Amino acid sequence: MLLQLGDLLKSATGTKKIHEVFSDEIILDEFDIVSSSGLIWLTKINMGVWATTKILLNITSTCDRCLEKYNQVINIESDDIFYHFDYLGKNPELYDRIDSPEIFYIKDNMIELTESFRQNILVNMPIKLLCNLDCQGIVNKNNRISNTKLIDIENR
Ligand SMILES: [Zn+2]
Repeated sequence: MLLQLGDLLKSATGTKKIHEVFSDEIILDEFDIVSSSGLIWLTKINMGVWATTKILLNITSTCDRCLEKYNQVINIESDDIFYHFDYLGKNPELYDRIDSPEIFYIKDNMIELTESFRQNILVNMPIKLLCNLDCQGIVNKNNRISNTKLIDIENR
């Protein structure tokens, strides 16, 4: 997701802008994002732009137990600095890491948030994907899981 910075970089340090996320604005190859909503705050800082986001995503996922598709809700809260390219140039310790996934920079007066979103989704995705906590797994129609309690015969 590319975000135009408009005149933010020409504004005074500390200037803020808010972007409201559209429901179909966030697209990632690895995830089937059905809808998104939330806000992105952009703040002009000396180093570039500080972007904080609070976004709710609905992602079509496959349940690990029953293998049915369901809607997984994910909250992402990111907090990233997008550096001015010339700021990076003056800071060799940052410039050396320019290709690493945690260094973001401003390009053509735009910031690219996709990688930040991708990392955040991966962190916030539950390890086990379940359509609901009580999912019984794949239940064969002719072999339903019995709810009958087993009787403890040793104590009889
Ligand atoms: Zn399930």
